[in-house]
This record gives sequence, C-alpha cells and structure tokens, in this order.
Amino acid sequence: EQKSTINFGAGPAKLPQSVLLQAQKELLSYNSLGISVLEMSHRSSDFGKILNKTESLMRELLNIPDNYKVMFLQGGGSGQFSAVPLNLIGLKEDRCADYLVTGTWSAKAAKEAEKYGKVNIVHPKLDSYTKIPDPSSWTLNPSASYVYYCCNETVHGVEYNFIPETNGVVLVSDMSSNFLSRPVDVSKFGLIFAGAQKNVGCAGVTVVIVREDLAEMNSLYNTPPCFSIYIMCLVLEWIKNYGGSVAMKNLNNQKSSLIYDIINNSDGFYVCPVDQSCRSRMNIPFRLRTEEGDEALEKKFLDGAAKRGMISLKGHRSVGGIRASLYNAVTLEDTEALATYMKEFQKEHM
Ligand code: PMP
Repeated sequence: EQKSTINFGAGPAKLPQSVLLQAQKELLSYNSLGISVLEMSHRSSDFGKILNKTESLMRELLNIPDNYKVMFLQGGGSGQFSAVPLNLIGLKEDRCADYLVTGTWSAKAAKEAEKYGKVNIVHPKLDSYTKIPDPSSWTLNPSASYVYYCCNETVHGVEYNFIPETNGVVLVSDMSSNFLSRPVDVSKFGLIFAGAQKNVGCAGVTVVIVREDLAEMNSLYNTPPCFSIYIMCLVLEWIKNYGGSVAMKNLNNQKSSLIYDIINNSDGFYVCPVDQSCRSRMNIPFRLRTEEGDEALEKKFLDGAAKRGMISLKGHRSVGGIRASLYNAVTLEDTEALATYMKEFQKEHM
C-alpha cells in the first residue's frame, strides 16, 4: 500500500517505502533467528554482519579511503559539537580552531567549542545567514588545530558547493543534512560527521568518518545503536540500488531545481532569501509575498498543503515561513506534487 502522506520534514525525515516494508517484515524475526534486531546482542555474529555490511556499503558509496575509520555513534550531531573540539583542539599547541559560521548549526558548534579552546571566526560576522562569505575574505589561522564548517545549514538553507581550502590544516565538516546526497572527496577531510535521520536512516545513530591518525576508537567501544544501524544499512542498500551517490545527486538537483524555478519565476510571490550561489538542494526556506512573509497567507498555504497530504512544511521556529526539505527519500513525484500545489496556490492568491 502506497502512503498518501508526503513528508517534507527537516528530520527525522521520510524513509524509502521499501526500507520500511523490509524492516516491518523482519521486525519480529530477523533472518529466521526468532529474535528481532531490537533484541540482539551487539557482540553476536549476526549483528556483527549487519555492522560490517553497513560499513562496507558506506565505504563503497562514498569511496572512503582505507586510512579512514567509519564509526556509528550515539549523541547526535550535537554530541559531535563537543566531541570534535575535545578530541581535536589539542592537535596543536595553541588549542585554537577556525570556524565558519554560516547558520544556526555552525554557530552552535562554535559556541560549544569555546569551552575547550580558542575559537576564531574566520570571516566578518554575518547580519543574516543568507550567503557564504567569499573565501577571499577569510582569515584562516595557519596554527589552528582544525577548520570547521557546516556543509548544509538545515535551518537557513545554505549549502556549500565547494570544499574550503585550508592549506594543510585539518578540515572538519558537519554534513548532517546533506550526507550522501552527492559524492564527496573524503580525502580532503580530517573528519566528517552526520546524524542519520535526514538522508541515511532514522534518529539514534551518527556517522563519523575520521582519518586514522586522528582517532582511536571503533563502533563497539560500547553498545551501539543497533536498530538505527540496521535501518541505515537498509537505506544504504536502497541508495546503492538506486545508482549510488551520483544518481542521488542527479535526483536531488532535479528536485530542488523544480522548486527553485517556481520561486524564481513567481514574480516575488515566493521569496527565498538565500543567495543563488549557495542555495541548499536539501532544505528550501521561503516566505510568501515579502521577505518578512505574509503570515496569514503562509498559514493558508500550510493548511492547504496538509489537505493534500503534504506535511511538515512549516519553517523552523527561528525563521518562520515555509521550509521544504527534499532529502534522498523524497521522490521526484513527491516534489512534483509540491510544485503543482505551489503554482496553483500562487494563481489563486497572487
Ligand atoms: N547539524 C545539523 C546540520 C543539523 O541539521 C542538526 C539537526 N537538525 C544537528 C547538527 C543536530 O543534530 P542532533 O539533533 O542529532 O544533535
């Protein structure tokens, strides 16, 4: 049975239907074992197989070099805001780190890092999170232990389409909301982390990809989030069958272009504040009629969407308006349904 609700939530987000069906089928008895993955020892050979398969799929899909560890941890993206400085700020004597602050999530990470060392914001403070300051305006500190940035700002819809050049300083990125939505050259990074609950699974597990010389642990230090890892394994298989990270990228480009085209051609009815050069393919924030938004009309928009089964389109409470999140599992058909609704709504209310 196809679900009639379309979930445009920012995370936890939509999962592929086939993944849910398989999890349902295997929920009571995994692999004819008579027990659920929810009940299985994390040290059992059966769970070991799930863990190994998840890691090897991840390595294959992202072409992760051998000198990187892949860990599946608890604590979420927010846990990594402190784990990163705890583990890395002492890499150099000055205990200093460079941060790019381009939205809510990198701002939170920078604030957390201040507890552990000196934090240098490498660019002039932004009045609004609607663009990425030009790299020519950054002052990177060559003796920083690492350079940190958030690759996709989920709240503001700002996404990097380039990898910052750090001149040899360890590069760290929060890819929570655009992980595996396109290929990435992992070798350019010291550490990448991402919560699974947007593009690669459900809440409970955070992927950490870290260069070997920067870390010592693996995923079995303690009890890992077994079921979340299992769901991630199913999603990675789904991505592989879909054609991998390149196919994901093409799909995601196509979906986001569909919505941005409507915004750009709406004669100002739909307003996206983000600079064209860094508009996120994953999270599309927009207002109605003006930059500040017509709140009554926005409510009408959300109510009308809900009547058509399109849910979780409300913007983050800190920015208001509308936000359409188009993660990997959101289909082209889902996006077309939203596009059609946006056009009709405009016609009716212009
Ligand atoms: N970073 C980004 C980019 C996010 O979008 C989020 C959550 N939406 C977080 C970090 C925090 O993740 P968590 O809630 O798993 O701690």
